[in-house]
Amino acid sequence: MEIATLAVIGAGTMGQGIAHVAALHGRTVRLVDVSEDVLQRALQHIASNLDRQVKKARITEAQKEEALQRIALSTDLEGAVSDVQLVIEAVPENPDLKAQVFERLDRTAPPAAILASNTSSISITWLAARTQRPAQVIGMHFFNPVPVMQLVEIVRGLETSEATYETIYRLAEALGKTPVTVNDAPGFVSNRVLMPMINEAIYCVMEGVATPEDVDRVMKLGMNHPMGPLALADLIGLDVCLGIMEVLHRELGEDKYRPCPLLRKMVAAGRLGRKTGRGFYEYAAT
Ligand code: NAD
Repeated sequence: MEIATLAVIGAGTMGQGIAHVAALHGRTVRLVDVSEDVLQRALQHIASNLDRQVKKARITEAQKEEALQRIALSTDLEGAVSDVQLVIEAVPENPDLKAQVFERLDRTAPPAAILASNTSSISITWLAARTQRPAQVIGMHFFNPVPVMQLVEIVRGLETSEATYETIYRLAEALGKTPVTVNDAPGFVSNRVLMPMINEAIYCVMEGVATPEDVDRVMKLGMNHPMGPLALADLIGLDVCLGIMEVLHRELGEDKYRPCPLLRKMVAAGRLGRKTGRGFYEYAAT
């Protein structure tokens, strides 16, 4: 199936980026959120990110205008998905909320439509079981910022059909991304590997092995990482890192995934990283 029309549910950081990339690649996009204000802000962000691409001569002014024309905003989830071929869900990482959204989508999207989730850690198999169409449920895990990052992890749930998988794999390629296929497992591959590394870096700070600056310096200069793990944790959000470590620890049941006590303490103190102005580093207000 060729995807021409899709809905993106949630116009936050990720939903905006997904809508941007899909519209730029010729898809008709319905962008859905709970408030008109959020939607207007999302469209402004998309327009300014497209502008940046025009300034860098990556796209033309006409391509930018066409992309913006292809995006329709809506607060009416049911209405927006009634005639789409694909829905990509990008609401906050809360299992109850995602389950509710999937139940609603399953009731109203056309029977042939595919339901995809951009979740970072929630089981695709579990979300699929909230619907009457588990063969048409799949993970489409984009990375932030979506217009820039090359990878899409395609996550196959236990019941995901070959036809669903092939459609989504081809769509990711058509959007200019590089899809990598993984099976449904806690944290998939990206967060299964990244988060324990970040957690271990925090243990190094807690145990006085090195300062945050020196931990990051070792990983940048010695391993050629473009960014140290603690600066990256601040960028992702320490609350998000803790949430994913908790999923890994609970689901995989091994001590090696135990969230570092210093990570818990920093989240408890509200030192969440860039978004609160302070994490392992301090950030000037923007
Ligand atoms: P966000 O908080 O920036 O955006 C979520 C949006 O969903 C908000 O605008 C909110 O108003 C909206 N929303 C909430 N309930 C809704 C509903 N019932 N219907 C429609 N919209 C609703 O979150 P985000 O960072 O964009 O993350 C979204 C998803 O993407 C999460 O599952 C997250 O784990 C995943 N993800 C995030 C990143 C990242 O770096 N931010 C990277 C990869 C994956």
